[in-house]
Parts: sequence; structure tokens; C-alpha cells
Amino acid sequence: MTDIKPTGLPGVLKTLGSMTAIRDTYLVEQSLLRTLGPILGVLETSLYRVDDRGAILRFLHHRRSSVMTEDGVHRVVERIEEVTNDRDIPKEIHDLLENVRMLDRPCSRKMGEELVICYPLRGGQVLRGYFVFRRDREVTPVEEAIISGILEVFSNYYALLDTSQRDQLTGLFNRYSLEVNLDRLWNLLLLRMRETVIDHDEHRRHTPHTYWLGVLDVDHFKTINDKHGHVIGDEVLIMVARLLEKSFRQSDLLYRFGGEEFVAIIAADDLEAATHAFERARDSIERFSFPQVGHITISGGFSGADYNVLPQEVINRADSALYAAKDAGRNCICHYDTLVRQGVLKEIESGSIDLF
Ligand code: GH3
Ligand code: MG
Ligand code: MG
Repeated sequence: MTDIKPTGLPGVLKTLGSMTAIRDTYLVEQSLLRTLGPILGVLETSLYRVDDRGAILRFLHHRRSSVMTEDGVHRVVERIEEVTNDRDIPKEIHDLLENVRMLDRPCSRKMGEELVICYPLRGGQVLRGYFVFRRDREVTPVEEAIISGILEVFSNYYALLDTSQRDQLTGLFNRYSLEVNLDRLWNLLLLRMRETVIDHDEHRRHTPHTYWLGVLDVDHFKTINDKHGHVIGDEVLIMVARLLEKSFRQSDLLYRFGGEEFVAIIAADDLEAATHAFERARDSIERFSFPQVGHITISGGFSGADYNVLPQEVINRADSALYAAKDAGRNCICHYDTLVRQGVLKEIESGSIDLF
């Protein structure tokens, strides 16, 4: 247990106010952990996010520690850790989360001297994740009322945020959330690059891309609309979205970029693996027989998510590779750097980030 005192209700309302001013889901999640830890008088709080099928996508741990400065003043230090590997979750926690999911209510379990307490987090009616903390005693009725109230606000806000980040037709992430996620991805890449520079400066230019951005566009979509009408056109877009989701990995990110264009950000170790992933997506569309419409195809262009090139430039690169794919006869995927090497495209120079 901790000697950090629980905060009162006015503090909670203040934090809630600033919480709802934050637009990004990730930041709101952090804020929730920051808010609830002091209320419950615990130093560690965790949030587990799940996907639509209930599988754990990632989790956040928030830790506070009290340190004594040189002049004898106590200072609270906060640390947020984000983990995307669910192998790091102890089996007992896994079982507890599963209990909460099945019973759809908070549950606790004794672990050593402490209790691990878990609350379900909903976005509207859907289970979005779990809020977990450890304590030496059960939650009191007053605490229960406060936690439930805060989680309810959070849950409504989650649903709202989720709607604003989703495309209404396909349910994929929309263009707005692409911009937010690109910023986060680039921060991550910069962080990694700095670590690499410290480790082996001379090799940093050869560090392989680990993320790739592809723009995928339905071929001759206008003809589909003209021939079958807008409603069928919309249905095709929804089915394309589902097929792409199925083709890429759960951890890859898929966006509706505009009309019949999609953006995928995928993790792959090398060019071969990335090409394979985009080719598999193209192939899954070509093979599918769309009701009333029959077979359609997509074309795509992709580029490595290079930390020293602005995100918008990476999109431009993928986009110019897409146009090369259209020029080459459609139903194919092109890689930007390969086209530049072959002299098909001229390198897009502008907008690179000056790092040092
Ligand atoms: P290309 O192979 O060169 O990509 O040809 P295309 O016909 O697919 O491309 P073009 O850009 O000429 O046409 C895209 C069409 O997509 C035009 C637009 O009416 C249609 N579209 C855009 N958004 C939607 C939508 O939400 N629903 C439907 N049904 N059609 C849409
Ligand atoms: Mg098109
Ligand atoms: Mg298009």
C-alpha cells in the first residue's frame, strides 16, 4: 500500500474537465489512469484495450512513485508504459479479465497479500477494455460510486471519440485519425532512430524500415457506380473494407482515406515481407466475387515509413507509386523506392526533416 493520500472530489472534477478536452483516445486513456490512481490511493493503475473480438490489443501501465529531492521535498514522479505484446500479461490477470468479460461486471482476485481489482470499460454497449489496479482491501461503496461514475463518463466519451475517428460507411478509421496516428508513429520512429544512433552510428542509414504505408485504390470504381448505382457502390466499399481487414494483420492499421481509397500502415521486417502483405490484400479482392458486381480489382502503391521524411511526403510517395500502378495497367502493387531506382519515378525530395 501507499502513503500517497487519495484526492477529493473537486480534484477529480477538475481532471475530468481537462480529460474531456483531449481529443485523442490514447491521451484520454492515460488521463483516466492518472485520475483514478490518486482517488483509489494506489501507485499503479493499468488499462487493457481489446479489439472487437475481445482479444487484447495493447495495455498501458501508469506508475507513480514518491521521490525525495536533495532539499528534502517529496515529489511524485509519473511513468506511463505502453505494451503491445500480450505475452507479458500474467496468467492470473488473463483469467481475471476473462471473468470480467464473461460476467460483465467488476471482479477481484487475491494475489499474494493484495487484491487485484478489475472493472470492465465500455464504449457505448461494446466492451473496449479493462481497468485494473491492486490494493490491500476491497473497494468501499463510496469509492465504488466514484469509480463507476468516472468510468461511465469515460465510456460515453470513448464511444464519442471512437465515432469521430471512424468512417461512417465502412467503420474503418477515418482520415482524421490517420493524421493523429502518423504523428504518434513518427515519434516512435524518431525515438527508435535515436537509440540506433547511440548504438551504432555508422549503420543507421541501413536500419531497415519496420513500418510501411500503402495507398490502395479500387480500379474503375466510377464504372461500378455508373453501372450498378451508388447503393451497390457503397456495398462494394464496405465489402472491400472487410476483405482488407481480413487480409492484413490485426495489429496493422487500416483507414478509409477518401472515396474508394484506403491507407494501410503495416509492420514488416523487410521489403519482401511488406510486398507480400500488400500483394495478399490485392489478391484477396481479385478473388472475391461481389454480389451483383462480380470481380473487381485494386491497385496500390507503398513506401517505407522513413523517420527523416515527413509523414505527408511518405503518403505522397505511396500515392505516386499508386499512379504508376494504374499506368502499368492496374490490379498491381508498386513500391516507391523500386520505381525510383528503375527510373520510372523521380525521387520526391521536398519536405524531408532536418534532424541534426
Ligand atoms: P481508377 O481506376 O483510375 O481509380 O478509376 P476510378 O473510376 O476508380 O476513379 P475515379 O477517381 O475516376 O472515380 C472514383 C469514383 O468513386 C467517383 C466517385 O463518385 C466514387 N465515390 C467516391 N466516394 C464514394 C462513396 O462513398 N460511395 C460511392 N458509391 N461512390 C463513391
Ligand atoms: Mg479508383
Ligand atoms: Mg481514387
